[in-house]
Amino acid sequence: MPDDRDLNRTKSPRPSSESASRRMSRTGQRDTAAEMKIRRRLHGMGFRYRVDQPVIDHPRRRADIAFTRARVAVFVDGCFWHGCPDHGTWPKSNVEFWRDKIETNRRRDLDTNRCLEVLGWKVVRIWEHEDPDVAAERIAAVVRARLHESKRG
Ligand SMILES: [Zn+2]
Repeated sequence: MPDDRDLNRTKSPRPSSESASRRMSRTGQRDTAAEMKIRRRLHGMGFRYRVDQPVIDHPRRRADIAFTRARVAVFVDGCFWHGCPDHGTWPKSNVEFWRDKIETNRRRDLDTNRCLEVLGWKVVRIWEHEDPDVAAERIAAVVRARLHESKRG
């Protein structure tokens, strides 16, 4: 999610097409449909979690779903904003602006992963296009494994 200060400093070009403006309006949106479905599924499986959990030392970066005991942070990444290899179509106008923006997001994602991993968290990244049931199962498996590990350790 484009949540850092750079975005506010950069002057956005006017959206040049309806689809670009739709994409822009989705920026910063919380509780996307994909995320809600995954959360509901996890909740149905009996998991409890926090939503929109700030990453330590980076209060503007927030995990979409966080399992604090298992220390698992989940990010549901929008295909456009995070440059999904399947759906990361580059807009035809303002190419450089968008490329730069998306690449900045990707770099920040990697940095966020590293920050969390250093602190002992496990990061799970889900694309918004993924099947929510499959995604929820993947998350559940990671959380269970982590809880199991911590019991043994
Ligand atoms: Zn995608």
